[in-house]
Amino acid sequence: SGTLYIVATPIGNLEDITLRALRILKEVDLVAAEDTRHSRKLLTHFGISKPLTSYFDHNKDLKGDQILDRLREGQSVALITDAGTPCISDPGYQLVRDAVAGGISVVPIPGACAAVTALSASGLPTDHFSFAGFLPNRQGKRRERLQSLAADKAVLIFYESPKRLLATLQDMLETMGDREVVVARELTKMYEEFLRGRLSALVKEVQGREIRGEVAILVTPAEEPEATDAPGMEELLQKYLSSGE
Ligand code: SAM
Repeated sequence: SGTLYIVATPIGNLEDITLRALRILKEVDLVAAEDTRHSRKLLTHFGISKPLTSYFDHNKDLKGDQILDRLREGQSVALITDAGTPCISDPGYQLVRDAVAGGISVVPIPGACAAVTALSASGLPTDHFSFAGFLPNRQGKRRERLQSLAADKAVLIFYESPKRLLATLQDMLETMGDREVVVARELTKMYEEFLRGRLSALVKEVQGREIRGEVAILVTPAEEPEATDAPGMEELLQKYLSSGE
């Protein structure tokens, strides 16, 4: 059977496409894209003309089967999404799972991913992080999710729409306390910007100006409680025993 390539595309700056991605996109028989019009423009920009088919969340069952048929016939297929790495808060997971289950070879072609791009220049600890994707839109569910993540000892990485940024920062402040955060905006684009500070300060800043474009939010874990000088249980017990009472 053919090979399914999972091809990362830029998250803004077209120079971030890789040489390997361009070669694979030129070589495959078919490109499956989240939005064929959007992806046609990208391919045209790089002088690539290929048959495109749509693969997105709402047609994934039907389209997934058709793509798997093509792969079984020996054709090679590249999956791309509107931006960044497919399957990361983007369609693709189910297709990859079914291809793997069907014994079809799946080859990743790595490239841009907003979460890792934001983390790499955030200045936050990078040794342990959790990707939490998009939060629920409804406030109740959003707070519930934030509460369930509050004890995580890793830096948390979220994707968010600019119109919900303020509400989400406010909910984070109320459910998780006044933590250090970084908001990475418009990564790799002309107006790329990093907003750094405590949640309380960023809430004020975002209240004062309209934030446009794409954003990722990185939240540091809760601070360890500070060690106190108060005697521990063992120490008290020792004292009590040695006093002979
Ligand atoms: N698959 C993509 C990836 O690898 O990053 C993510 C797709 S998801 C549908 C889109 C979200 O990713 C945006 O709402 C935003 O939170 C984040 N994002 C994508 N591009 C970005 C950029 N240039 N700057 C900041 N965040 C970005």
